[in-house]
Amino acid sequence: MTPLDALPRSAYIHVPFCAHRCGYCDFTLVAGRDDLIDAYLEALAIELTKLERPCEVDTLFFGGGTPTHLPAPELERLMTLARRWFPPAPGAEICVEANPAGLDDVKIAVLAQAGVNRVSLGVQSFDDAVLKLLERDHRGAEVPAVVERVRRRIPNIGLDLIFGVPGQSFGLWRDTLAQAIALRPTHVSTYGLTFEKGTAFQSRLNKGLLQRCDEEVEQQMYALAMDELPQAGFEQYELSNFARPGFRSRHNEVYWAGRPFFGFGPGAARYAAGRRELNHRSVTTWINRVLAGQSPIAESEELSAEGSARELVMLNLRRGEGIHLAQFREQTGFDFRQLAGEALPRHLRQGLLEECDGHIRLAREGRFLADTVFAEYV
Ligand code: SF4
Repeated sequence: MTPLDALPRSAYIHVPFCAHRCGYCDFTLVAGRDDLIDAYLEALAIELTKLERPCEVDTLFFGGGTPTHLPAPELERLMTLARRWFPPAPGAEICVEANPAGLDDVKIAVLAQAGVNRVSLGVQSFDDAVLKLLERDHRGAEVPAVVERVRRRIPNIGLDLIFGVPGQSFGLWRDTLAQAIALRPTHVSTYGLTFEKGTAFQSRLNKGLLQRCDEEVEQQMYALAMDELPQAGFEQYELSNFARPGFRSRHNEVYWAGRPFFGFGPGAARYAAGRRELNHRSVTTWINRVLAGQSPIAESEELSAEGSARELVMLNLRRGEGIHLAQFREQTGFDFRQLAGEALPRHLRQGLLEECDGHIRLAREGRFLADTVFAEYV
C-alpha cells in the first residue's frame, strides 16, 4: 500500500451558510436560507453513515460558507455529530473557519468545548472602504476585540487577508499587513482577489463597473507580504500561507502533500485510494438527494498513476519545501525529472524553479508566475 492508498486521517466538513453572498464569492453556499440548516444537519448525519464506523482523524476541518453562521445550538449539534464519526486522535488539529461578524462568546464557548483548537478568521482587510467593496459584514475596528475574545478560549488563530482589491492602494495593504501582525496571530493567509465566473464581481467587471487592481501593484502587494511576514517571524510554508513555528495548518498540509482525506457536505471533495470524488455543489440538490437516499456524488474520477503523480507535482510545488525528489518517487513510483521533461531545466534556467538539498521548489520569481509554471507539469 502506497501512502496515496492509505485510509484518510483527515476530514473536511462543508458548512454552506452565510448571511449574504459577498460579490466575489463562488463558494458552495446559500445566503439568507437559514431555514435549511435543520435539513442540512439531518442530511449530513445521513451522509456520514456512509463511513459505516467512526474513523479516527489527525485533522478535522470545518469550512464554508461560514460554519459559525450556525446558531449556537446547531453549531453544537454539528460538532457533536462530526466528533462522533471522526474521533480526534490525541493532539489532533480541529479547525473552524469563522467570520468576525456574529462570532459571540456563546459560539466561541461551543467551539472550545467541542475541542476546536484552531480558528481561521476571515478578516480580509482592516480598511472599511475595502471591506465595504468586498461586501463583508464587519468593520476593521471590530477585529481586534474579536481576536482577543477568541484567544481567551482558543489561542491558535489564523487571519485570512485579501489583496489586489479594486481601489486598494499599496499603502492600504501595507497597513492591513501591519495591523494583522500587531494582533499576534499564529498564522496569516494572503490571497489575491480573483474574479470567478458567475460572480457579481465578474459581471460588474464585464460591465466596466469595477476595475481590476493593476497587475504590477498586485505583484508588489504579494512581494510585500513575502517580505513583511517572514520579518515578523512567520515562515512562508506555502504560496499563500505564513505560519509561526509550529503553527502551520496541518489540515491543509495534507492536501499539499497529496495525502488522502474525507469530505462531507455539499460541494465537498474527497480523495482516497487514487479516486477523487466531488459532491453536488447545489446545497438543495445535495440535501434532497441525501434525504431521498440517493448518492450526493456529482463527479467521481479514478486518477491514473501518472495523473496522480502530475497532480502531486502541482500540490507539492505550492509548498515552501517544494518536491522532495526521493519522497516523490516513493509516493508515486515516478521520477520527477523524467516526468517533467524539458520544462524542468528550462524553469531552472529561467530562475522560476530552484533545486536545493534533494528538493525542487518555486524560486521567489516563480511564486509570481506559479499558475504558468504549474500548467507545464499537469
Ligand atoms: S463570508 Fe466568505 S464564504 Fe460567505 S459569502 Fe462571503 S466570501 Fe463567501
